[in-house]
Amino acid sequence: MSTLEAATSTTTRQDTAWQVCIQPDCRSTYGIDEILVACPKCGNLLDIGYDWDRLEVPSSLSEFEARWSTRRNPLDFSGVWRFRNLLPFAPEASIVTIGEGQTILRESNLISRYVGLNDSNVLLQYEGLNPSGSFKDNGMTAASTHARMVGAKFAACASTGNTSASLAIYSSAAQLFNALVFVGTGKIAFGKLSQALDYGAHTLQIAGDFDDALKQVREVCQREKIYLCNSVNPFRLEGQKTIMFRVLEALNWQPPDWIVVPGGNLGNSSAFGKAFLELKDLGLIDRVPRLAVINAAGANTLHQLYNERSVRWNDGRTDDATIDGFFAQMDAENRRASTLATAIEINRPVNLKKCLRALDACHGVVRQVSDQEILDAKAQIGAGGFGCEPASAASVAGAKLLREEGIIAPSDQVVCILTGHQLKDPNATVAYHSSTNGEIDSKLAAHGIDSVTFANGPVVVENELDRILDVIRSL
Ligand SMILES: *Cc1c(COP(=O)(O)O)cnc(C)c1O
Ligand SMILES: [Zn+2]
Repeated sequence: MSTLEAATSTTTRQDTAWQVCIQPDCRSTYGIDEILVACPKCGNLLDIGYDWDRLEVPSSLSEFEARWSTRRNPLDFSGVWRFRNLLPFAPEASIVTIGEGQTILRESNLISRYVGLNDSNVLLQYEGLNPSGSFKDNGMTAASTHARMVGAKFAACASTGNTSASLAIYSSAAQLFNALVFVGTGKIAFGKLSQALDYGAHTLQIAGDFDDALKQVREVCQREKIYLCNSVNPFRLEGQKTIMFRVLEALNWQPPDWIVVPGGNLGNSSAFGKAFLELKDLGLIDRVPRLAVINAAGANTLHQLYNERSVRWNDGRTDDATIDGFFAQMDAENRRASTLATAIEINRPVNLKKCLRALDACHGVVRQVSDQEILDAKAQIGAGGFGCEPASAASVAGAKLLREEGIIAPSDQVVCILTGHQLKDPNATVAYHSSTNGEIDSKLAAHGIDSVTFANGPVVVENELDRILDVIRSL
């Protein structure tokens, strides 16, 4: 039995898609018309499972390329719904799309050298090109579609910024439901907050951080029957699988050696693992890439559990005593996540168990990188012609670390996911480039930055032609 199929003993429904508990001793199934973010029986996360035998699945992934010629159909244009046969939970008439997923995989010689690989062996999957500027749109189109299927009038999320921007854009574009977003105070980059406000989302600023905001929104959604769009929503992760389908497509359907992704709430890494498990089960790929999930050192729960306490998926029988003990101690010490990479400033990753499953399926590794490594990598990514926000650069910083450790070989083909656009958080970028090695911006210094190797600061010059020419001639 594949990990993604429901146990036959509990499957009586005739549907071709259902929700199923990830816990192997439970594996309870629920209809896709139900609004659930955890298994009502045991509290574990839910997956979307499919009866692939009764669904139309292409015999080869390259069959999806035919849809490029029918891209006037919005479903064929969407970089998510082009692959709808691989996330077949929605009737086509219910699909909410705004042209998400027009993203690219590009080689970067500069970054290849920075990471320590042969030229062009690092490829950057640039998800900042999505309508709201982050990969979250891949998931939100799927969650919005499900919200429409169940007739939701309000949809909510807690956010470090990008989830709220994404929910807000889908809410305003689709005009099917109102968006309610919960953000922490002082923790959200202005580019992201401005999007939620501009797209007309009801925005609640909680006096706390992301972990606090998520706790509150879960409670609110349960009490008020509001549709929850955080990545505990299993439909969201179905959409995020397509990031991997597009990577494969760009590589002529040949899996790379490595996928490197920043880890926050661990929804993306979980979705990638599910994508590869399903493609393998369906016989559409014969090899699965290795997965590297990169934490910021200031928000390193996955690193702590995986590397320091050896917590593993273990066929779904995870060591919950160790996990619960870790969080209990974190609460007792009031330990808070703290990193300039605000999109991954999360200490209680909700998709932890699914991520452990992905790491198991993809022979994965977990690493942590400092804010210093993140910002240096980010500046190199920018110099190479890509703009990303700090969290995204954790992928490149992580690849560099794994190369230095010899885990990634110089000839490996490595895909780093650039999760969000540069303009999401211009303050971090300007603070880095305006600093000098003698004088570091105070906010950066507070996060341990003590050098700015790749700073490209503005040259201050008098408003006088001769002085300006002096500067230019000295370049
Ligand atoms: C949400 C987000 C992440 C973290 O992704 P998870 O799925 O929560 O692990 C990383 N980078 C950016 C830019 C994000 O918006
Ligand atoms: Zn269960």
